[in-house]
Amino acid sequence: MSITSLRLRQFRSYDDFSIELAPRVNIIVGPNASGKTNLLEAFQVACIGSSFRAKDIELVKFNQSGSKIEMLGEDTSRTVKIKKQDDKTVKQITIDNVEIKRLTINKIVPIVLFEPENLRMINGSPERRRDYLDNILEITIPTFKNTRRQYKRALAQRNRLLKQENRIIKDQLFVWDVKISEYGAAIIEARQTLIKRINKDANAVYKGLSGSNNKVKLVYESKVKTTDVRSGILKGLNQNLDKDTLRGFTSIGPHRDDIIFMLNRHDAHNSASRGETRSLVLMCKIIELKIVEETFQQKPVLLLDDVFSELDTKRRRALTAYLKDYQVIITTTDADSVLEHFLKDTNVIALSPTQS
Ligand code: ATP
Ligand code: MG
Repeated sequence: MSITSLRLRQFRSYDDFSIELAPRVNIIVGPNASGKTNLLEAFQVACIGSSFRAKDIELVKFNQSGSKIEMLGEDTSRTVKIKKQDDKTVKQITIDNVEIKRLTINKIVPIVLFEPENLRMINGSPERRRDYLDNILEITIPTFKNTRRQYKRALAQRNRLLKQENRIIKDQLFVWDVKISEYGAAIIEARQTLIKRINKDANAVYKGLSGSNNKVKLVYESKVKTTDVRSGILKGLNQNLDKDTLRGFTSIGPHRDDIIFMLNRHDAHNSASRGETRSLVLMCKIIELKIVEETFQQKPVLLLDDVFSELDTKRRRALTAYLKDYQVIITTTDADSVLEHFLKDTNVIALSPTQS
C-alpha cells in the first residue's frame, strides 16, 4: 500500500499541517529543527501505532491536550488520536471509520525506518543492537510486543525484590524467575531465528554494497549457555542469586546479551573501518526490508531520516538502487545531495523553519 496524504494537528512541533505524497520518491527538505524527524515519527505512529523513540505523551504538542494524525492510503484511511489525561494518555485508533482497540500486526502498514542512529549501532552499546533486532521482531511476530513488555515488567519486579534487605524475599523471587525464563526464552529464540535469517543474505548483500568479498556474519552472544534456553535461564538465575542480591540487579537473561558483527572472523566493533561499519548497517537495513516484505507480503514504505548526508557517494548509489520499487520518504537538509540520485518522479516538499 502506498500512502497518499497525512494531516497532523497538535503533533510535536506541528499545529495544523498537511502533506500529499507521490507513490514513489518523496523528499522532505528543511533546515535543522524544522520538523523533519517529527514528520517521519508521525508516519510511524500512523502506520505501526507507536513511536520507537518516544512515549505517546511526548508526541502531543507542548501545552496542548491532544494530537491527531490522519493518514490516507490508496483505498484506506486511518486516524490516531492521542489525548492527555493527567500524566497519562489515551490513544484512539480508527481504520476506515471503525475504531479498533489495538493496532495488531494484520492492521499495520509495514514500514522500515532508517535513521542516523542506526549507523552507530555497531560501535554503540549492546542495547542498541538488541533494540535493533527487537524492533524488527515487534512488527513481524504478533506476540513479540507483549512478550517484550512482560519480560521488562518481570525483570523490574525481580530487581526491586533483589534490592530489599529482607531474606524472605527469596520465595517471592521464584514467581518472577519463572516469568523471566518463559518470556526470556521466547525473546532469545526469536532473536536467534532472526539472526539466522539475516545471515542467509549477509554475504551477498554486503558484496552488493561494498564490492568486497569479506565474509560477514552476526553471532548471538548470550550468557545462557544451553540449547534449552528456558531451563538455562532458570538455572542461571539460581546460580547468580547471591551475586545478583549483592548488586541489586539480574545478571543473566536477554537484557544482558549482545549481537556480534563478525567481519572476516573479527569483531567489527573493534576492527572495522568507518566505511565498513556503514556497509554493515546498510546491509542489515536492506535485509530488514526483505524480511518485512516477506512477512507482510507487501512492500513496506521506507522512511529515511537524513541518512544520505552520512553516506559517501558509492553507498548512496548502492542504497538508491535498492529503493527502486518502494515508496520512500526521505528527509534532508540538503536537497541536492539526495536529488542527484533520483531524477524522475520525485516529489519535493520544502519545510520552512516556521512551517511547524
Ligand atoms: P534536525 O535536522 O536537526 O534533525 P528536524 O527537522 O528533524 O531537525 P525535529 O527533530 O523534527 O527537527 O524537531 C523540530 C522541533 O520540534 C524541535 O525544535 C523540537 O524542540 C520540537 N519539538 C519536539 N517535541 C515537541 C513537542 N511535543 N511540542 C512542541 N515542539 C516539539
Ligand atoms: Mg531530525
